[in-house]
Amino acid sequence: MGIFNKIGDAVSDASRNVNEKTKNISDTSNLKRKILYEEERIMEIFTDIGKVYYKTPENTDELKAYCDDIDTRKRRIKKMKFELQGLKGVRICPKCQAEVQDKFQFCGICGAKLPTSEDDFD
Ligand SMILES: [Zn+2]
Repeated sequence: MGIFNKIGDAVSDASRNVNEKTKNISDTSNLKRKILYEEERIMEIFTDIGKVYYKTPENTDELKAYCDDIDTRKRRIKKMKFELQGLKGVRICPKCQAEVQDKFQFCGICGAKLPTSEDDFD
């Protein structure tokens, strides 16, 4: 293993790091955009619910379908926010909302257990 190989390795490591950082940034902005989209959709659905209820309050099937749609989107948002935190290397404590380092299982502020996987959102 000559010195040039070592330099070559170091350079490819460095460029891999840069690539990963760039990927992280685009993943982050993708997620943020998707979250924003879902939040806007939820506001629109709330408006639709208001309209349906105003015109036909007895149409509970349709109202229920809208509510289910909102629940689905809220779960989706929660999951994406969790992914976002993962990209940042932090988690948000579900109890006190503190930002906690990814590697910890419990919140250092209030001691609550932190969510560990996507399973928590199903
Ligand atoms: Zn906490």
